[in-house]
Amino acid sequence: MKKPVYLDYAATTPVDPAVADEMIKYLTPDGLFGNPASRTHGFGWQAEAAVESARGQVASLIHADPREIVWTSGATESDNLAIKGAVAGRDNAHVITSAIEHKAVVDTCKWLESRGVDVTWLSPGSDGRIQPDQVFDALRPETVLVSLMLVNNELGCVTDIAAIGSELRSRGVMFHVDAAQAAGKLPVDVTAMPIDLMSLSGHKVYGPKGVGALYVRRSPDVRIEAQIHGGGHERGMRSGTLPTHQIAGMGKAFAMAEACLDDDMQHLECLRTAFLDGLKGLPGVTLNGSDACRVPGIINLSFDGVDAESLMLGLRDLAVSSGSACASAAVEPSFVLRGIGLSDELAHRALRFSMGRFTTAEEIAFASAQIVDVVTRLRAVR
Ligand SMILES: *Cc1c(COP(=O)(O)O)cnc(C)c1O
Repeated sequence: MKKPVYLDYAATTPVDPAVADEMIKYLTPDGLFGNPASRTHGFGWQAEAAVESARGQVASLIHADPREIVWTSGATESDNLAIKGAVAGRDNAHVITSAIEHKAVVDTCKWLESRGVDVTWLSPGSDGRIQPDQVFDALRPETVLVSLMLVNNELGCVTDIAAIGSELRSRGVMFHVDAAQAAGKLPVDVTAMPIDLMSLSGHKVYGPKGVGALYVRRSPDVRIEAQIHGGGHERGMRSGTLPTHQIAGMGKAFAMAEACLDDDMQHLECLRTAFLDGLKGLPGVTLNGSDACRVPGIINLSFDGVDAESLMLGLRDLAVSSGSACASAAVEPSFVLRGIGLSDELAHRALRFSMGRFTTAEEIAFASAQIVDVVTRLRAVR
């Protein structure tokens, strides 16, 4: 077993070796290195064929039409394009989002707010979930867009997107969903979810970093304004030479996610159960966020009487993430944990453990034993 044990799959995943093998084909002089936008020779046509094949693979995982997929540099850019692109040119626009969205959504909405857009920030319940009625109650005649995540990246809880979407559709309000943590972790089907825009990332699904996609619905037709102008690539929605190797890698990763979805989900359920069972002997452990509506691979726990920073120092053989983001000198407790009503003190006691395709039962047994050891030791010296 390699140490430290990697338990931060929600931050990023390693590239699957089969994905890396695919990517290398599009780089070197003996490979398909052409510019996919070159229309005058085979180098370009072959690269374009690779891009279109990957577009089909990404579309397939979410049951979309390939023409609904716009390549971006990652879910951060997809979130920016969706939100700014939907609001652009609308007077008196009103946007609804939540207090526990990813920073890419939170900061984009804050920026819009600074430019005069009215934003309603919904607060989830202690389970980390936004209820459909909260969204409907916040709707106004001038509401242009609702942006909510499908799976929360710190808590793993799942939003009832289908119920919210059908009401928004009937009211003619655009619906953007950040699904960066959902793709490959639970079934995602845009034909069953009345949403308009969906953000995806390569590197949360065993693909490369620096590539993502925005799903833009064609029927009914959704219009967004481009945020990056240039050669008019991606039907004018996102200019810039397409990174063939990144795109081919994301395509392969999404095809594998589709083929492995049931196995991946079952594997993670088993690991989750084993991990939590391993901690059963330890009192004073609280699971943050919903235990019922969640993906199995993300587990956020608070430990009574132990702060996360000391615990992480003690858990040197585990690579995990605290709910806290280090902002310059001060350690700020996670805005997501505060957003579900945790006090600063409780938020400072939380750690996120996230597992993935390559996590083994042995690693999980080691991790839970380590946690029991270190927490017990830290509590004893208090
Ligand atoms: C990781 C993540 C992002 C950002 O994706 P990048 O591809 O790294 O830009 C956005 N939203 C959520 C929910 C994420 O987990």
